Amino acid sequence: MTRGPRGSGASWLHANGDRGVWPDTWYGRGLDLPDPHPPLRGRVTADLCVVGGGITGLSAALHGARAGMSVVLLEAQRVGWGASGRNGGQVGSGLNWGQEKLEAKLGPTRARAVWDLCEDAKALTRRLIASHAPEADWRPGILSVARGETSLGPMAEAAARMDRSYGTALEVLDRDALAARIGTRAYAGGVLDASAGVVNPLAYALGLARACVAAGVTIHEGSEVHRIGDSVAAAQGAVTARFVLHATNGYGAHLTGASAARVLPINNFIAVTEPLAAPPMAAPLGVADDRFVVNYFHQTRDGRLVYGGGESYGRRFPTDIEARVRANLARVYPALSEVRFEHAWGGTLAVTATRLPYLDEVAPGVFSAGGYSGHGLALAGLMGKLCVEAMGGARDRFDLLRDLPAPALPGGRMIGPWMAQAGLVAGALRDRILP
Ligand SMILES: Cc1cc2nc3c(=O)[nH]c(=O)nc-3n(C[C@H](O)[C@H](O)[C@H](O)COP(=O)(O)OP(=O)(O)OC[C@H]3O[C@@H](n4cnc5c(N)ncnc54)[C@H](O)[C@@H]3O)c2cc1C
Repeated sequence: MTRGPRGSGASWLHANGDRGVWPDTWYGRGLDLPDPHPPLRGRVTADLCVVGGGITGLSAALHGARAGMSVVLLEAQRVGWGASGRNGGQVGSGLNWGQEKLEAKLGPTRARAVWDLCEDAKALTRRLIASHAPEADWRPGILSVARGETSLGPMAEAAARMDRSYGTALEVLDRDALAARIGTRAYAGGVLDASAGVVNPLAYALGLARACVAAGVTIHEGSEVHRIGDSVAAAQGAVTARFVLHATNGYGAHLTGASAARVLPINNFIAVTEPLAAPPMAAPLGVADDRFVVNYFHQTRDGRLVYGGGESYGRRFPTDIEARVRANLARVYPALSEVRFEHAWGGTLAVTATRLPYLDEVAPGVFSAGGYSGHGLALAGLMGKLCVEAMGGARDRFDLLRDLPAPALPGGRMIGPWMAQAGLVAGALRDRILP
């Protein structure tokens, strides 16, 4: 596996913000932010070299070290600097596809096995947080909300089916019941999933990094990998390893060609209000709507709204992030149209053509995972663990997810991303046209 950067693709890492500095998200407030780990210098060997210090890479490093491997993790910026430390904090259930669609594609037995893995992903996230990052503060409850009656009907039917066939305990709320919970009548109703939850994602990532160090992982920050070949090459050093995990998601898909053809980077935006005099929710819940470009938000314990949504497809974030978020928030909470934001930021995540995650062994011993399509906060921890399981020869769970359809973007490596972006723009336009 010898691939260099695709054109200027590497600059997704450097297009926004200052090098080696976490963005000014609300999530860093009150956390004890660690000093940087030193960059890699010279040639070293390890059993496992992990490229990328998000939840995927950190989880793999932790589970690799626990399995007795010597592990070196290379992170271009700081651990948790990428999507993992700046996302919406929502740890959801399942995948982007509903179970009915998965059953139609995979058959009931495999679809059930995939569901069980996703449940494991949520449980693993909770365990990792409880053991290593209690300050990430798991708060149960995510509401999927419908903008109109036409989508509420199928949503409620799907919830009833999930309760019957999968033993979930989903609660369907009509407009009035929902308004009582979240203080807006903007939605026709929704479904509450009490098994999902909201966390501080940066706290989760930093807690995992601490656990990695305690387990013997060597972390190098400020160590951008330029090439994954016979060794893993960074600016001032290289790692020779039996196994490599490529876990750079939206920021570095070019490092392995198979991943570049399957994983499309997109940007998404979040703003955090000042503490509100009259917070709209009765209790802090996560909310995600039914748009193609999902609007999602939650209320913090100190009465702020963390509101996310909107996308862009070029490397640079737009300059008007706050205005974009404000427009979305004002549609849901008109009384807050003038609210003061204390933080606003962008982040880069990755989607696949099918919106199902991408996981593969792209060359002997070289694994790649990403493209979680908005479900990564729950999935990433499990994905890292599954890669380590596969390295140890236990491939069943890895293969189950690897075999999900996440094909190369139509149009190939060069034109594919542009065609996929055109599809995303069309979806975003539909959001504006439909009620
Ligand atoms: C604004 C936003 C909101 C989101 N909201 C949610 C949500 O509410 N729920 C949810 O489930 N998902 C959400 N996501 C998606 C989720 O955050 C991601 O799927 C998940 O964090 C991916 O984790 P990761 O470890 O694979 O990638 P990342 O966290 O992006 O980590 C990749 C790391 O690789 C490093 N890197 C990149 N290139 C190199 C290189 N060449 N050499 C060395 N290191 C490199 C980067 O610096 C980065 O730290 C959101 C994403 C964004 C951006």
